[in-house]
Amino acid sequence: MEKKKIEKEKRIIEQMIRLYCLHKEKNEELCDECNELLLYARQRLDCCTFGEKKPACRQCPIHCYKPNMKKKIRLVMRFSGPRMIFYTPIEVLKHLFSK
Ligand SMILES: [Zn+2]
Repeated sequence: MEKKKIEKEKRIIEQMIRLYCLHKEKNEELCDECNELLLYARQRLDCCTFGEKKPACRQCPIHCYKPNMKKKIRLVMRFSGPRMIFYTPIEVLKHLFSK
């Protein structure tokens, strides 16, 4: 099966985490905590049961993140989400933030 969509989501999540760490936490490089979150997010995408049919994580019926990771990714999304418009095409944002 094609994995393009998952790969794309991984790149997006990486950009969002970097944005958050660099601009919000003012780190020059990705800190350990954010790196852990990134690895975790990638791993979650890899084993997402929906594969290519995956809905936006926000709408996903399976909340697969463990609580502390979920809390952190929410902070990342809240900070980086509105800023991602400068980095990614609008279709991606529509997908990620569709209600
Ligand atoms: Zn960080």
